[in-house]
Parts: sequence; C-alpha cells; structure tokens
Amino acid sequence: MNAVTRYFKSLMLLELFEGLSVTLRYFFRPKFTIRYPEEKTPKSNRYRGLHALRRYPNGEERCIACKLCEAVCPALAITIDSTQRDDGTRRTTRYDIDLFKCIYCGFCEESCPVDSIVETDFLEYHFENRGENIVTKDKLLAIGDRFEDRIAAARRQDAAFR
Ligand code: SF4
Ligand code: SF4
Repeated sequence: MNAVTRYFKSLMLLELFEGLSVTLRYFFRPKFTIRYPEEKTPKSNRYRGLHALRRYPNGEERCIACKLCEAVCPALAITIDSTQRDDGTRRTTRYDIDLFKCIYCGFCEESCPVDSIVETDFLEYHFENRGENIVTKDKLLAIGDRFEDRIAAARRQDAAFR
C-alpha cells in the first residue's frame, strides 16, 4: 500500500470504525468479565493463597517443628526455631513466612506430615507497613483459626487424591 492510499484511508477514519465495529459486536454478547469484588469467580479447593497454621479440634497446634517445610521451601521463605516442652513434645518458638519471598508453590503444605501449614483460598490481603510481609506464628495460627472451616472443607473435597 503506497503512502497516498494510506493517507486517504487515515483521513476517512477507517481504522477507527473497524475498531468501533469490534466493540459493537461484543457489546451485546455475554460478558467475559465480572464485577469484582461484588462478583467472584469460583476457586479450586487446591487454590494456593495466604498461609495458615492449623490446630487440632482440642486447640493444640498441629505443628511438631519437624522443619520439613523450611527445608523444602525453594524460596527460603520459612524460618523456624523450636524447643522441647516439659511434656517431651517439640513445638516451634518461631515460625515466620516472608510473603515477599514466597512463590506460592505449595511445597510446604505438601511436605507437612500433620497437615499443619496450609495455603488457604484467601487472596484479598495487602500490606500497609514495612515488615508486614513477615507473617509470624501468632498471625498464622490466627489465620488458621479464622479459616479452619474452609480449610477443612477443601481438604475433605481433596481427600481422595491425597
Ligand atoms: S508456598 Fe512454596 S515458596 Fe511459599 S512458603 Fe511454601 S514452600 Fe515456600
Ligand atoms: S508446619 Fe508441618 S512441616 Fe512445617 S515444621 Fe510444622 S509439622 Fe513440620
């Protein structure tokens, strides 16, 4: 196409009308988009969102400080310190996850022998202050308490495949 033809085509705004015709064609079709956050798409029961530490129904924390999750984490996002209790059981004194390092691979929850560290389907979180990206043990347990029903339901759905 030579320059003169291109010039006259641009004067007639043909490309603009082509674009508008695409808009018009899709205007009356069913929408691909949703009105988030009022509307939400369904999530898999394996969705890997914010982490949580779970407890047993009697309130005892599940984590036995075996540090498998810390060892397997490819992003070195987990830091654990542990101690032995008076009753001989081992528990963490520190369990931090750096969410800036985490790549949400799910290896930590796959490695956990007692189903303690899990990734919830919760994704709507943010940080406002420096340091909030480090999620401490207390926070992780609180998240676990808050979402336990959802976590347990997702685990039940997935039980046949684990
Ligand atoms: S999801 Fe993956 S990267 Fe994130 S803490 Fe777990 S093992 Fe590490
Ligand atoms: S969360 Fe699970 S894998 Fe990690 S230290 Fe605790 S028991 Fe071990």
